[in-house]
Amino acid sequence: MMCELCGRDAPFLKEVIIEGSRLMVCPGCAKMGTRYIEEKQRDIPKALIEERLRRRTLKARPKDIYQEIGESLVEDYSARIMKARQKKCLTREEMGRMINEKAGVIGRLENGSLRPDDALRKKIERFLGVSLLTKATKGILTHRTRARGMTLGDLIKIEKDKGK
Ligand SMILES: [Zn+2]
Repeated sequence: MMCELCGRDAPFLKEVIIEGSRLMVCPGCAKMGTRYIEEKQRDIPKALIEERLRRRTLKARPKDIYQEIGESLVEDYSARIMKARQKKCLTREEMGRMINEKAGVIGRLENGSLRPDDALRKKIERFLGVSLLTKATKGILTHRTRARGMTLGDLIKIEKDKGK
């Protein structure tokens, strides 16, 4: 049988209340909750649970996840290369000769069948005077708790993660 809290396989499960949720958990996790029957009798006020959730939500806020997005090739590199080449009034052959690449390479870059490696990209950028990289941005992956407040499921998940 699988514990609904930690996911471990347990010989038997206990029915407990953890943060207001009824769960079938292993003996180890059962210590974290109150026995279902007891809880039912005590009947924790909903407001108290909500208050706990609210506090947890506040605590979770500084944990917004920052994601470092590195520089990457722009999606429309093909179009940018072709446009810049045409602006210089160069054929693919001419441009190829000038940067020491075959015309076929330029063609494949321009139809998107070839993604330039770093060296080729830099060479093309220098030659054409264009940028083929997206700007490096540091964005916030908005943490779910900020977007919609914390749910019981989130809270249980946090407890679960702690147990690991
Ligand atoms: Zn467990």
